[in-house]
Amino acid sequence: MAGNKTLTMIKPMAVKKGFIGPILAKITEGGFKIVAMKYAKLTLEQAQKFYEVHKERPFYDELTAFMSSGPIVAAILEKENAVEAYRNYIGATDPAKAAPGTIRALYGTNLGMNAVHGSDSDENATIESDFFFSQLERF
Ligand code: ATP
Ligand code: MG
Repeated sequence: MAGNKTLTMIKPMAVKKGFIGPILAKITEGGFKIVAMKYAKLTLEQAQKFYEVHKERPFYDELTAFMSSGPIVAAILEKENAVEAYRNYIGATDPAKAAPGTIRALYGTNLGMNAVHGSDSDENATIESDFFFSQLERF
């Protein structure tokens, strides 16, 4: 059975460009309920831990350096079939290939700076949510 939660991050470049408000509005419009949220800046070590699954990928160093370069907004989102629904809603990894009107098409800069993260499985949604939030921070 598909879970009902996913973890998103608004990535540093989207924060820098002033897109926190528009992206949160778009998330809400899409029917995703924000059940936890924080504004934080990851250290390089924390970004490396978060993206540990990508350790062997050629873009790992670039990705973790970027994700620790400035503040991010992390949030747990709730909706039926949240992981798949949110990945469809944000669009393809490369903003240039993302469908018109999706968050990455609207607010992404390029492949690395693609505006937002979305969990890729229920298992990772749980791991990533626990990375950022204690039970006291979820509503
Ligand atoms: P995310 O995990 O951020 O939601 P995704 O699941 O669509 O994105 P992944 O394959 O998990 O894509 O890659 C994680 C992130 O690494 C991407 O969002 C992107 O920012 C970055 N990335 C992926 N491929 C490349 C690449 N070839 N060069 C640079 N960065 C990349
Ligand atoms: Mg991914």
